[in-house]
Amino acid sequence: MNVVLLGAPGAGKGTQAAVLTKELGVVHVASGDLFRKALSENTELGLLAKSYMEKGDLVPDEVTIEMVLERIRKPDCDSGVLFDGFPRTLSQAKALDEKLASESRQIDKAVYIEVPEEALIKRLSGRWICRECQTPYHAESSPPKVTGRCDVCGGELYQRADDTEETVRERLKVFFSQTLPIVEYYETQGKLLRVDGNQDINEVSAAITRLLRTESA
Ligand code: ADP
Ligand code: AMP
Repeated sequence: MNVVLLGAPGAGKGTQAAVLTKELGVVHVASGDLFRKALSENTELGLLAKSYMEKGDLVPDEVTIEMVLERIRKPDCDSGVLFDGFPRTLSQAKALDEKLASESRQIDKAVYIEVPEEALIKRLSGRWICRECQTPYHAESSPPKVTGRCDVCGGELYQRADDTEETVRERLKVFFSQTLPIVEYYETQGKLLRVDGNQDINEVSAAITRLLRTESA
């Protein structure tokens, strides 16, 4: 099964991906994580991405599409992928569809996690992420058991440089102008599932799992 997780920055895509990858037996492919990895390794791709990421803008389609398609070529993706943060533009969505179709695969469902804008800003300003395994935490809604340490792997927690209020506002603008049209794209294809993301983490997970089960039955 190939599933796209859609939602504004802070909607809970990474948080839900941790639950869903286990549930569905698929691999989590997060374009933002791939860019941050490239950046931490000081690659040419990482340095190029940095200039866009720090402003809250999208990295150009060509580069992003190539990076993600290369990732899903790896054999671990054969059993299915949970896409997080990709696609973010119509061109990316179409390129992904074309690539999958050329291998007789497809996107089965797109889950849109909806959260009001003010809640998104609160979530991102309190977000902490594990440097090692990328698990997200929140100072209030999902704090780690030990301050500054990841519950899953013990890795160090950090706050993203682009989670400042100014950059978050730009990222939200970009989401509503460039990414929201994708919701309609998947809706037209009959693949869209809408989930209320403004509830407890467990409730959101239960709603997504329930919908995926019913819709795929
Ligand atoms: P995204 O991957 O969509 O940008 P994250 O999964 O990183 O979002 O979540 C953003 C922040 O909000 C994190 O700090 C996370 O712990 C917190 N969070 C995620 N889901 C919820 C929820 N349902 N309720 C409250 N906080 C949440
Ligand atoms: P994220 O981790 O998904 O919040 O992404 C962090 C940043 O990486 C974004 O603000 C963009 O600059 C860049 N990025 C991640 N995914 C994409 C994408 N699909 N298209 C373009 N830029 C992306």
